[in-house]
Parts: sequence; structure tokens; C-alpha cells
Amino acid sequence: MSIGFTAEHTELAASVSGLVARHAARADTRTRLDGLAAGERPPCWTVLQEQGLLTLHLPEACGGNGFGQRDLAVVLEATGHGLLPGPYLPTVLAGAVVADSGAGRGRNALLSAVAAGASATAALGIGGLSAQPRGDGYHVTGVAAGVLGAVSADHLVLGARLTGGLDSGHDEVWFTVPAHEVEVTSERGIDLTRDLGTVRVGLVVAPEHVLTGTDASCIAATAATLAAAEAAGLIRWCLESVLEYVKVREQFGKPIGSYQAIKHRCARLFITAETAAAAAWDAARAAGGDEHQRRQAASAAAVTCLPAAVDAALDAITIFGGIGFTWEHDVHLYWRRAISLRALLGPTGEWARHLGLLALEQDRDFEVHDLEVDGAVRAEIVTDFARVAALPAGQRRNELAVLGYAAPHYPRPYGRAAGPAEQLVIAREFDSAGIEQPYMSVGEWALPTILSHGNDAQRERFVGPSLSGEITWCQLFSEPGAGSDLASLATKATRIEGGWRLNGQKVWTSLAHLADWGICLARTDDSVPRHAGLSYFLVNMRAEGVDIRPLRQSTGAEEFNEVFLNDVFVPDDCLVGEPGQGWALARTTLSNERLTISTEASPSNLGLLRRHIRQGTIPIEGPDATRVLGELTAAENAVSALNLRSLLARLSGFAPDASTSLAKVATTLCTRATCAAIVDFLGPLAAYANPDSSEATWSYLNLPNYLIGGGTLEIQYNIIAERILGLPR
Ligand SMILES: Cc1cc2nc3c(=O)[nH]c(=O)nc-3n(C[C@H](O)[C@H](O)[C@H](O)COP(=O)(O)OP(=O)(O)OC[C@H]3O[C@@H](n4cnc5c(N)ncnc54)[C@H](O)[C@@H]3O)c2cc1C
Repeated sequence: MSIGFTAEHTELAASVSGLVARHAARADTRTRLDGLAAGERPPCWTVLQEQGLLTLHLPEACGGNGFGQRDLAVVLEATGHGLLPGPYLPTVLAGAVVADSGAGRGRNALLSAVAAGASATAALGIGGLSAQPRGDGYHVTGVAAGVLGAVSADHLVLGARLTGGLDSGHDEVWFTVPAHEVEVTSERGIDLTRDLGTVRVGLVVAPEHVLTGTDASCIAATAATLAAAEAAGLIRWCLESVLEYVKVREQFGKPIGSYQAIKHRCARLFITAETAAAAAWDAARAAGGDEHQRRQAASAAAVTCLPAAVDAALDAITIFGGIGFTWEHDVHLYWRRAISLRALLGPTGEWARHLGLLALEQDRDFEVHDLEVDGAVRAEIVTDFARVAALPAGQRRNELAVLGYAAPHYPRPYGRAAGPAEQLVIAREFDSAGIEQPYMSVGEWALPTILSHGNDAQRERFVGPSLSGEITWCQLFSEPGAGSDLASLATKATRIEGGWRLNGQKVWTSLAHLADWGICLARTDDSVPRHAGLSYFLVNMRAEGVDIRPLRQSTGAEEFNEVFLNDVFVPDDCLVGEPGQGWALARTTLSNERLTISTEASPSNLGLLRRHIRQGTIPIEGPDATRVLGELTAAENAVSALNLRSLLARLSGFAPDASTSLAKVATTLCTRATCAAIVDFLGPLAAYANPDSSEATWSYLNLPNYLIGGGTLEIQYNIIAERILGLPR
């Protein structure tokens, strides 16, 4: 999913991509590299100005379109994807910085000039510039190196360290200056498609050119937001180009995309592209809001997107092989831009440290605030919850099920057929009423299968009682000889009078010892291809012949079991769907399992770490520790943003597709990193099973649950590569 996923944003991205392809084709860009480095603007500049793309994020009063940074991020992703040459990023950055600062004649002059087609840039730090108060203004001298777009800029935004007379309480001053008042030297930049300059300054800045209400960190946050969006575009180009190539390039007589090593690399590149888009989207949506939130989201985007773009391009080069290392191949142009962006934005470790400190003060807000839910529906929800809250605790769950709140996204009469917005309103009502949301464990993925593929009688018999907690479930899929390769399972179901007789052994069956019913895959036909010979049964766990033997996990807990099925009779009315449809039904189940795992796993772990740090059980000392915390926060924020985006994009609640594999992998990797860090932070405490550390170390010992349960990472990579990316099976 690109940064923009609404219809308007998809249209905007497509139109910008088309514009870049028509007016800034790469072959043409290659003929202009010397001119671009020397500060020439590409021919497409006039089109960018005419289409309003230089100013779409600026206030209408300044000649802009008033759209803000969310739309700008969509455009930047498209211009990054198309490797738009010239100073577009520095110009829109300067516009954003100036628009966000206090009013002044200089501010308006720069914005009006950009609206009329001028180019501009903003330095990303104060560099070697110093300023002394002079009358109402400042005398500024010194050198600012490495300013992207400085050579082509008609106007610059610069910052200087204030020396002497710190009466204002500020130690830096930011101002706008026309290019002809400074001396700019062109530098050889690693990004061949836009210019880089060193700016020498010796001038008096008049008060009307001084920007108020901004500083280097504020400007850096804006720059990180915009650069992250561009980086997301670079990554997506790498992914798409690689996919195109691996489907046609043959080695050893087959397309290289059919080799698992390549598939898994493509799957990881896809995950990188998706998380980068999510992080960049999150930073853009935070722009203009609460400053702490904005800085947190911008820092997270810098940590997630900028190094990822560099790695993605390098990965792409190695997947292309020798051809990727040639001057003629475009991938190095993308790599160069990614390296340049990362370098100019400053060390990723610094961004991570900054984020680590911010995360200790406040969590990033992933709530959706502007929910469009009918007033009458809202009122009904509030009234219903008040009624439920007034009931004795033991009666609440049943009432929630009866009213459709146990699974609001299910169709009526089981749920409320609630869309995403209504689901969120209900989730909040659970919180504010202090009522626990029913969680059905395996039932969370068993019921959607029964709802989608079962008959009326099965829905009637199982869905309601499961929602009210009367029936609990386990999943009888895995066998000693069939784990990842589930379709090779050997449990046999033989047709008999009135039903089926099941024989076989299941293993790793979570909660079988507690469950009332099990969803069970068994082979009903040996004579057809193996996927076509499976059927999907509902097995009464108390039936004769069901032998459950607990297995102890490495955590010490006994949560999963071996289950032996010895001549277990399953009546016809407990076959779901038709005989032979089991594989299709199992896919619905597994997809919902991954969805549940990905939404329940990660955030609680980082929350746990932050809680321990705040309590002092885990000491966080030194820059390394804050850096690690920042890196984990960036990863977790990206996962939360991914989840939020898919929630916002999803129309119905119980038909997840293969993208649940993406969420599962991203969540699992994040959880693994967090759990490992917790143990590391604990130091020697982690060696003890004492009450201070046991919760934290237990979460680490329990990690295989996420890594293996619901399908291992390798299997998720296979699913992503084949079902989402279309690589050959
Ligand atoms: C805590 C926990 C709870 C579970 N609960 C249940 C449950 O309730 N019900 C149930 O039915 N199952 C359950 N499982 C089983 C789980 O689904 C399987 O363990 C999982 O699918 C892996 O199968 P396996 O253990 O046989 O490993 P294997 O499939 O033998 O895999 C071993 C290794 O080989 C790799 N591998 C296998 N095939 C490929 C391939 N094609 N390409 C690349 N690598 C491959 C795997 O990634 C893995 O690293 C649970 C597992 C755990 C850990």
C-alpha cells in the first residue's frame, strides 16, 4: 500500500507519477546530470509549478492549495519513485518551514516567489553560521556546508548560532535570504540528479526576514517527514523493479524468482516498503498537530525510512546481479539519492536517541479521532454499555454477545455488521466503561470460518454460544508429520453411516485440554491431489476416542497437547462445507489466526519495557540504551501505523487476505527485537527467575509462540512472495 490509500490520494499519486514519466523521463535526466549538478532546473519545473505541486501544502493565503503535508507526502513518494530530478524536495521543504513559522514580510516574499515558480531550500542545521544582534536585525557570517538545492535556489532559509545578547532566550536565529545576497559554491554530490552547495554568508539580516517560532530541531522534523516520504518512493521503485526482473531473468533453466532465497529477499523488501510507507504516512499525518507527537512520528520515520532506502537499493543491486552494478542501470541513481538523503538528515543513531527520550515521556497516539459514526448509533452504543456495566460481572459477557458487541464486525444477528469506524467507537466504549472485551483465543479464527463457510444450523449452534463464552475451541491442524506442510496431513476421516470416523494424531494443539470443540482438518479422499482431499470438521473434544495428552512447553507451562483421535465419530452436521473443501476453509482460518496474532502481539511488549524503565526495574542509562529504545519504538510505531492503515482501509472485518502475513511478520520481528532488548537491558537480573524480572524474561522465553505458531516466518515469506508479489510457485 502506498502512502496514500484513499481514492483521492491514489489519484493524486497516479497523476504525479504520470507527470514525472512524461516530463522527466530517466533517459532525459541522464543527459542533464552536469547541468543539474550546476544548479539548472529541469524542464519539468514549469509543469510542477503550473500543476500547483510546488505549493500544494502551503496556506491558500500565500498562493498555496492549503492541503498540508499528508498530500505532499503522497506527491513526494511519487516523485521519489520516479526519481524526479532537480530541487523539488528542498523547495517544498523551504516552503513548509517558512509557512510553519511566524509571519513576516520575508516569509510572504519567499512563499509568493515559490508560488510563482522560484526554487528554494532550507539548511538542515546551523552549520558554521553565527549571528550577532545588529540594530533590530542580525549580522550573520560563516559557512553552511552541504545544503541540498542551494545552487539552484532563488531563496534560502538559513540558521545561525546567536552569539552575544541572548536576551530573547534563544541561541539560534533562522531567516530567509535571496540567493543573490549569499555566495554559493557548487559541490560534487553523490546524488547526481540534484545540486548540493556550500553557502558563504556575510550580511545583515533585516528583522522582517527573521523567522519566529522555529529552530533547528523543528526544521529537522519537517525535513525528516518529507525525506521519509521520498525514501518510501525510492524503496517502492526498488521493489517493483526487482519483481519485474526476477520474474523474467532465468538461471539454471528457471526464473530466479522461483528460488526461495530470492523469494524471501523480495518478501523482506516488500515488508520494508510497506513499513516505510506506513512510517512516512504517520509522520505526515502528525504534521501540524501536537509538537511532541509530531517530533516523535518524524523521528520514527527518519529511523525507519532513511537507512531502509539505502539498504533496499543495495539489496536490489545484488538481486539484479552484475547488471545492477553498471552505470547504465538506474538502480545506482536511486541508491545515490538514498545515501544522500540519509547523510544529509544526520546519523540515524541520533534520531533514534531523540525518539527514545521522547518515547519515555509519551506514547505515540494511534487513535482515530474523527470517526464518522451516525449520532443515533453512537447514542445506542453508549446506552447499551451503560446497561451492560450495571449487570453483575458474570452476566456481562452473555449480554454483550446477545447485543452483538462480543464481535461487532460479525454480521447480524451475531455481531452488528459494524464498519471500521463503528468498531473503533465500540472498542473505546469497552475502555471507558471498564468492561473487558471478550477474547475467544482459537475461537477468534474458528468462528469466521464457520460464519463464511458453515451452514445456518452450524452458525446457529456454534457462533452465539462461543461469543457468550459457553463454547471454547482448539485447532486440530498440525500433526507430527505435517507442520508447515499442512496439506500432507495423515489423519483420516472415513465415511460411515450418519457421519465420519476419524483416526490420527494431532500435535501442538493449544488449549485442547480445556476446549469443548476443535476445528479439525482430516483427509477424506486419498485418490485426488492432496489439497483436494481434505475436509474441515468440528470435533467434540469430549467425544469417545479423543485422547488428550498435555505437552510441557519450554516456558514450563502446559498450554499445548498431543491429541489422539481413535475412531472418533463426527456426525454429518459437523462437516463444514463440502467434503474436499477443507483446504480453502483452512486458509480462511489461518489468515484470521495471523490477523489476531499480529494485532495482539507486539505493542504490549514495548509497553512492558517502558513500564519497567519507568518503574526503575530496568535501568536505562547512557546514549546506547536510549538509542535502542528509540529503534524499538520506531519499529513498533511502524507496525501500529501499518495496523491503523489497514484498519482504515478495510471495509469489512472478517475477510483478511494474504496481507495478514505482512502484519504477522512485521509484528513478530518487532516483538522479537523488543523481547531481546528487555533481556539485554535487565543485565544480570535476567539470569534470575525473580519477581522483578520474571515477567520480562518470560516474555522472551515465550517468543517461539509468535515465531512458530500460526506459521513460521519462512512460511509467511513464501505466502507474501507467491500470493502477494506473484512470484512463481
Ligand atoms: C506455541 C505454539 C502453539 C501452537 N498451537 C497450535 C494449535 O493450536 N493447533 C495447531 O494445529 N498447530 C499449532 N501449532 C503448530 C504450528 O502451527 C506449527 O508448529 C508450525 O506450523 C510449524 O510446523 P512444525 O513445528 O512442524 O515445523 P516444521 O514445519 O517442521 O518447520 C521446521 C523449520 O523448517 C522451516 N520450513 C518448513 N517448510 C519450509 C519451506 N517450505 N520453506 C522454508 N522453510 C521451511 C520452518 O520455517 C521451520 O523453521 C503451535 C505451535 C506453537 C509453537
